[in-house]
Amino acid sequence: GLPVVAIVGRPNVGKSTLVNRLAVVRDAIVHDEPGVTRDRTYRDAFWRDRDFQVVDTGGLLFDDDSEFLPHIRQQASLALAEAKVAIFVVDGMAGLSAADEAIAQWLREQSVPVLLAVNKCESAEKGLIQAAEFWQLGLGEPFPVSGIHGNGTGDLLDQVVDRL
Ligand code: GDP
Ligand code: MG
Repeated sequence: GLPVVAIVGRPNVGKSTLVNRLAVVRDAIVHDEPGVTRDRTYRDAFWRDRDFQVVDTGGLLFDDDSEFLPHIRQQASLALAEAKVAIFVVDGMAGLSAADEAIAQWLREQSVPVLLAVNKCESAEKGLIQAAEFWQLGLGEPFPVSGIHGNGTGDLLDQVVDRL
């Protein structure tokens, strides 16, 4: 099958919005309830002549900002095991959180390459400042993006297809 790109991150950072932006939307699900992922579907995407699929694993990564429950972690690891690349989405408006650090630590233990997307960066200039603190996660360059407006998603997708 097509290579899979898994989207991970804590609730409400904008994973579903970003998936809608990155994927060719068929059977789009409207997420009118923030933080709730109702479905886990593989969505077709392409960029620079490369076809792949995007899966939102958001429903698996639920934590209460301090706990990253072992059984959830295990399910998420299974989802990541089949992924060629993971995009770890964080919230550039909210800033770095303890949950982000827990997820980052777990991601570093996985074998999949991770790209760090700092979402909710509508302003390119401010986005660079918002993104900077996420270098601390130890996952390499943080890419400022806006799932809502689409800023930065081209640069992020360039990085994705480089790793497929
Ligand atoms: P998920 O729980 O990670 O899937 O997050 P959602 O995609 O459901 O989005 C959670 C909330 O963040 C919603 O209120 C969205 O409108 C908002 N949101 C998502 N992406 C962006 C963005 O790029 N910029 C801003 N300002 N808000 C966003
Ligand atoms: Mg969601």
